[in-house]
Amino acid sequence: MKIDRRQFAGYSSAIAAWGCVSGVGQSNFNSQQPLFIATWKFGLPACIRSLETLGKTESVLDAIEMGIRVAEADPNVDSVGIGGAPNANGVVQLDACIMDGATHRAGSVAALENFPHPISVARRVMEKTKHVLLVGAGAADFATEQGFESQVLLTEMQKRKWQDWKTQQAKATGPRAELAVPTNHNTPTNHDTIALVGIDSTGNIAGGCSTSGLAYKLPGRVGDSPILGSGLYVDGAVGAAGATGIGENVMRHCGSFLIVELMRSGMDPTAACREAIERIANTDKKKPADLHINFLAIDKKGRWGAAGTDAGYEIAVVTPEFARLEKPFLVI
Ligand code: ASP
Repeated sequence: MKIDRRQFAGYSSAIAAWGCVSGVGQSNFNSQQPLFIATWKFGLPACIRSLETLGKTESVLDAIEMGIRVAEADPNVDSVGIGGAPNANGVVQLDACIMDGATHRAGSVAALENFPHPISVARRVMEKTKHVLLVGAGAADFATEQGFESQVLLTEMQKRKWQDWKTQQAKATGPRAELAVPTNHNTPTNHDTIALVGIDSTGNIAGGCSTSGLAYKLPGRVGDSPILGSGLYVDGAVGAAGATGIGENVMRHCGSFLIVELMRSGMDPTAACREAIERIANTDKKKPADLHINFLAIDKKGRWGAAGTDAGYEIAVVTPEFARLEKPFLVI
C-alpha cells in the first residue's frame, strides 16, 4: 500500500508538533505505516526528513539518504559530515554506507576526505559501480567523477578542539591508538554516528550510516560504520540494525548482522539488541558499560527497539503519528 499524498500532508502537520518524550525503547507499531528510527538526538530532524522524502518520492532509499544528509549538513553535529571531528593529523575522514533490504544491494565509502555527504557518495557506489566499498583517495576520485563538490571540512571549533588535544598529547605518554579513544561517550552531546533505518508502508526496508568516526583516530582508521554487518545491516526478509559507539567493539562481532540474525530467530528488536550486547560483553570478558556500544533495530513487522551501554544514548523514532526521542534499554 502506497502512502496517500493527502494523508501524508495530514501526517506532516501532525508531526510538526513533535516534542521530546522519554520512551521505553521498545514498542509495537501498526506495520501499515512507515517508520524511521535513528541514533542520537540529531537523528530526529533526520528521520522527519526521511518521512517527508518518502511522502514525495515513495522510495525508502531516498528517504534514508535525504534523512542522513540533514545530519551531515549540520555544522553543530560534531561527529558527522561537515561538523565532523578530525583524525590525529587534523584531517576529517568520513565513513558511510547505505543498504537496500529488498535487493541486498549496498554501497560504502571509508576515509573519504573533503566531501560533506558521504552517504550520497556511498549510494552512487551502490548504483553506479560493481563494487561495494571504496576508500580514501579512490573514493574521493570517484566522488569528483560523479560530480560531487569538494570542500575543506574542518570547522573552526573542531580545529580548536584538535589543537587542544594535540597539546594534551604532547604531555601524555602511551600508545597513540589508546590515546585516540575518545572519552565523550557518556555526554549527552558531542557524538556520534548517525545510523538511520526505516520501513515503508509496503514493508520495504533500508538503512544507512554516516560518521566522522572516533575523534583523533589514527589516519586511515576505519570503524564499524561503513562495514556492512557491523555498523549497519539490512535484510528485507527480517529487518535492519545499526550501531554507534566504539566501532572496534562492534566490528569484531559483526554487531548489526548478529542483531538481524537474532531477529530472524524470533527475537523482537530490543531483545536482539540486548542479546548482542550481552554476547559481546561475555566474549570479551568485559562489563557492558566498558564497551561503549549502542544499537537500534526494526523488524519486518514494523516493531522497533534499541539497547546500549551508554547512559546518554537515545534514539529518534518517527512515524506519521509522532516524532520523539526514546531512552533505549540500558545494559551495564
Ligand atoms: N562507531 C563510530 C566509529 O567507531 C563512532 C561512534 O559511533 O561513536 O567510527
